[in-house]
This record gives sequence, structure tokens and C-alpha cells, in this order.
Amino acid sequence: MRFSLSAMWKNKCPRCRQGQMFVEPFKFSDPLAMNKNCSVCNQAMEPEPGFYYGAMFLSYIISTFTLLPLALLLVFYFKWSVEAAMGIVILFGALFFFKILRGSRSLWIHMMVRYDKSYS
Ligand SMILES: [Zn+2]
Repeated sequence: MRFSLSAMWKNKCPRCRQGQMFVEPFKFSDPLAMNKNCSVCNQAMEPEPGFYYGAMFLSYIISTFTLLPLALLLVFYFKWSVEAAMGIVILFGALFFFKILRGSRSLWIHMMVRYDKSYS
């Protein structure tokens, strides 16, 4: 299969789906610290300068299409006040900030780099 949601979700290398994209363990001071190359297949994790510029738009799209429906649901279906709904949206935005930040980079590189069966 060409695209693996599981590998993307777990921030695995898009080519071998085994190596880690990001430096472990996670540090709040540098949440986007990435390995230079995959430890298994040597795939470059930043193939060219500014490669992850597009991931910024993905992160915007992902947060909008998850948080906006939540806010609309709370306000128009559950009849919450706008202030209370915004509080929940801000809470969810804060809780999933790092997941969306890293996930959008992972999704971006998984869209650009093909899976290589020879590493499975
Ligand atoms: Zn790899």
C-alpha cells in the first residue's frame, strides 16, 4: 500500500516505516527536533531547505477542520454560550498542539516520499 495512516500517525519514516522521524525523547524546548536521516534506510528527514513550509498549511487546515465543527456543534446544537465553546476550543487546541504540529510534518513527508517495500 502506498500510504500508511498508522506510520504517519506514529511519525515513522515514510520510506521504510521503521525509523523515527523525530528525536526521542520529546522535549518541550524543541518540539520539532528531527533526526537528520532515518536510522534504518537513511532517508533524509528534511529533503530540501524549507521542505516543511507546506506542513504549516496542513496544520492550519487540520486544526480548522477539527476545532471549528466542535465550536459550531457546541454553540448551535448544545446551545452553549460562545465564550464557553471558545474555552473548550482553546483547551482542545492546547491539548493537541504538539500532535498537530508534528502530525502535519509527518503527513507532509508521507505525501511526498514513497514507501519502499524492500525494507519490510
Ligand atoms: Zn526509513
